[in-house]
Amino acid sequence: LAVGGGPARAEPGPAPYLDPRLPIADRVRDLLARMSLDDKLGQMTQPERKYVTPDDVTRYRIGAVLSSGGSAPSPNTPPSWADMVDGYQRAALAAPLRVPILYGVDAVHGHNTLQDATIFPHDIGLGASRDPELVRGIGAATAEELAGTGVNWDFAPCVCVARDDRWGRTYESFGEVPELPSMMTTLVDGLQGGPARVLATAKHFVADGGTAGGEDRGDALITEAELRAVHLPPFREAVRRGVGSVMVSYSSWNGLKMHRNRYLITDVLKGELGFGGFVVSDYNGLDRLDDTPGFTEDDVVAAVNAGIDMVMMSTEWRGFIDHLRDAVNGGRVPMSRIDDANRRILTKKFELGLFEHPMANRSYMKTVGSAAHRALARQAVAKSQVVLKNQNNTLPLDDDDKVFVAGRSANDIGMQSGGWTITWQGKPGPITKGTTILDGIRQVAQSPDNITYEKDGAGVDGSYDAAIAVVGEKPYAEYHGDRPDGLRLDPEDLKTIDRLRAAETPVIVVLVSGRPLDVAARLPGWDALVAAWLPGTEGAGVADVLYGETAPTGRLPVTWMRDNGQQPINKGDGKKPLFPFGYGLNY
Ligand code: BGC
Repeated sequence: LAVGGGPARAEPGPAPYLDPRLPIADRVRDLLARMSLDDKLGQMTQPERKYVTPDDVTRYRIGAVLSSGGSAPSPNTPPSWADMVDGYQRAALAAPLRVPILYGVDAVHGHNTLQDATIFPHDIGLGASRDPELVRGIGAATAEELAGTGVNWDFAPCVCVARDDRWGRTYESFGEVPELPSMMTTLVDGLQGGPARVLATAKHFVADGGTAGGEDRGDALITEAELRAVHLPPFREAVRRGVGSVMVSYSSWNGLKMHRNRYLITDVLKGELGFGGFVVSDYNGLDRLDDTPGFTEDDVVAAVNAGIDMVMMSTEWRGFIDHLRDAVNGGRVPMSRIDDANRRILTKKFELGLFEHPMANRSYMKTVGSAAHRALARQAVAKSQVVLKNQNNTLPLDDDDKVFVAGRSANDIGMQSGGWTITWQGKPGPITKGTTILDGIRQVAQSPDNITYEKDGAGVDGSYDAAIAVVGEKPYAEYHGDRPDGLRLDPEDLKTIDRLRAAETPVIVVLVSGRPLDVAARLPGWDALVAAWLPGTEGAGVADVLYGETAPTGRLPVTWMRDNGQQPINKGDGKKPLFPFGYGLNY
């Protein structure tokens, strides 16, 4: 300190970027000025947890880490998740500039890779609810469950507009018209706006649901006018709501991979739509940019210059850093592009408050699978049910009806939750805690003794008031769910339904599927048909509608084909569907 009357020299306090009282733009500017090229390249890199150690995070100044569907920690419980994420976070903070990481997961229907978390209906069911406030609440609940485990970035919502039901990601779509995904961008508000804030991601930019033949990662052979009219509006709406990140689609548009489409990413998304957040690649999205496996410096140059700010990767993340360093040093990627990417990423980190509160907020752990969240999910399930046929008022059931329940999806949490549940592909069986549809029926019926269950339906006889077949699709995700040859009921499911029909009891078919199936030829033999979509862990919501505890208000978010030959079938295309877009019966 100065003595002898000279001006006092300030103690060197914390760097301005660490001062939460300063405007974020100033903090970003100060931090950027302190960063080396390697610091900046690290920020632009997001390796998957399996392929990166905490030491790597410190050493390479990694900007983000993810747990993809298959890399949840083990044992898969909330405290171990938080310990794991905090371990990576501590490693990031051990680097000289102490820049926190983003930790991302695909929480696409609740914190779905976390054991015993609340699993909400997949987007297609939420689209049927037509209830954006419900979806906002689901976003807030999901953010709470994520916050308890230290996760601060969610790769949701998928705002794709699914135009061909053969596409394996149709269930990740809120519907086949842009208005539905646009309406449901309230999920962004729910995720980003609550006290438990996580960064949201609008994905996959753009026209992922518009590929020829419904091929996942395929090619959208459409005009720019159609791309703008059908596939762009939900992104515009997500940007309007301040979505923090946008993920690029694996797919192509008229032969050009989205990951190298500078016009759409930079001119349209960042320019025209005014997107101020950052753009992340899809997982290993730089591979096969030129249809050869792996990626080269040329691919890195193309992707980063196209406007991709962060790259999500498995094993080859070091190669990405090396290629990008060479490209910058060789003048192929301007430093201004690197600074722009960093500015975007760091701004979101500051906005999230990560520099002040980087660690897991364990107080939210008590919300994981809480009664309140499960009640919200049950309500969402009830609101997503669409009653498609109801001959002779078979529905609603009476509390004291004798009911026979059968079908592969009746008593199976895995089947009713679909893909992206615990693992990437999901799988049948008791994979997590929840209420099966059968359990739900037992709860809602006046006496559980009124309910008889036999999976294959063999023991059915005419002494019942109604027989319910709960049947549908087995879990799948992404291209594993592509069905270029059409969408049919499984022969085993058909057998089960036919057994029930033989008992001459009214037959109610509850379809647990990610999309319409070809049922027209069978439908005349069924008394009632309910589309339950992929409800998640709270099967009681299905029972609420079957028993009339909740009025059936769900409406089709997609057009229901008369037969597979009609695919692709969309609202307004002139084909005569079995059930039109928006269809749904009341009691
Ligand atoms: C999917 C994305 C997902 C990413 C990370 C990709 O295979 O297309 O939707 O966010 O994996 O798990």
